[in-house]
Amino acid sequence: MNSHRRGADRGNVRRLLRTAKSLLKRTKSICDQILLSYPKRVECNVCRWRGRHFLSDSWHKHINCPRCTSGIRHRLFVAALQEIDALSFERILRDKRVLHFAPEQIMSSVLRKKAAYYATADFLRDDFDLKLDISNMSEVGNESFDVVIAFDVLEHVPDYQESLQEVRRILRPKGYAIFTVPQKDNLAVTLEDPSTVPPEDRRKNFGQWDHLRVFGNDFPELVEGKGFTVKSIDESDFSPEISRRNVLFPTVLSEHPLATNHRKVFFAQKT
Ligand SMILES: [Zn+2]
Repeated sequence: MNSHRRGADRGNVRRLLRTAKSLLKRTKSICDQILLSYPKRVECNVCRWRGRHFLSDSWHKHINCPRCTSGIRHRLFVAALQEIDALSFERILRDKRVLHFAPEQIMSSVLRKKAAYYATADFLRDDFDLKLDISNMSEVGNESFDVVIAFDVLEHVPDYQESLQEVRRILRPKGYAIFTVPQKDNLAVTLEDPSTVPPEDRRKNFGQWDHLRVFGNDFPELVEGKGFTVKSIDESDFSPEISRRNVLFPTVLSEHPLATNHRKVFFAQKT
């Protein structure tokens, strides 16, 4: 067997494994949705699934939608677009050019319909519209977009301050950067340590092997320092009924020392 043939076989096996994994995931999702159908206490404002409760992850109880996998940050974002006039779908997305980093498929399908132009981007993957490093987007001209969305991206990049400058550069005047970041509860100042290189140390200090920092309550100030005004949105911006029904805050607080129970979405407008 020549090396070309062996390479083709390995490619086929990888494709088969990916298909099998995706089928298993889909089957589990359908089973979860059926098992959790009644009573209809909670509702996902992203995909409209309703049921008894959401699914748990290793840190948090009952926070992820079994149909679309939305988490609290996604539902807070959609709630803001639905409920807050100044941040509505109409104002933020209609007739706008939107660049979305590392998007979840369900969020793309919601946002793509509303924007005039919508592009997805990622630094590592090839299956998005653009392959872009958020810290150095030399391929993108100044003031090319009205909105840049980056959820849980800035904790991964070596220099997040450069990323903030780049995002500001490609935004049109008064454009919005919309961020979420993992924030350790009650941490005043962002923690980062460039010497923390081994993945196990990153996991211990920052919560995940590929996180380079854990942000604190100073995140809005850090963003404002780069030429934005920041509006932070959390569950307190909505009625208790919406917050409860859409689960915009964990029903049970995680006791993990690095957990982000108090999730926020930051709407940063270019000054
Ligand atoms: Zn959902």
